[in-house]
Amino acid sequence: MSEKSPAARIEPRLVSCPSCAKAAPWRTDNPYRPFCSARCKGIDFGAWAADEYRLPESTLEPPDDFS
Ligand SMILES: [Zn+2]
Repeated sequence: MSEKSPAARIEPRLVSCPSCAKAAPWRTDNPYRPFCSARCKGIDFGAWAADEYRLPESTLEPPDDFS
């Protein structure tokens, strides 16, 4: 038991960082949400514009029920 303050018992809502998938606290005072940090926010933004903008074709199966 190591409760330092009553506020520590209040757990913030956690979201998965889109960049590193690490749990990040969703706080109104976190300007980087839903990212865990400014670093992840920058990385994700760059990747999105460069590499990961391309969607995996394996998930894009067109409906082929017309036969
Ligand atoms: Zn992150």
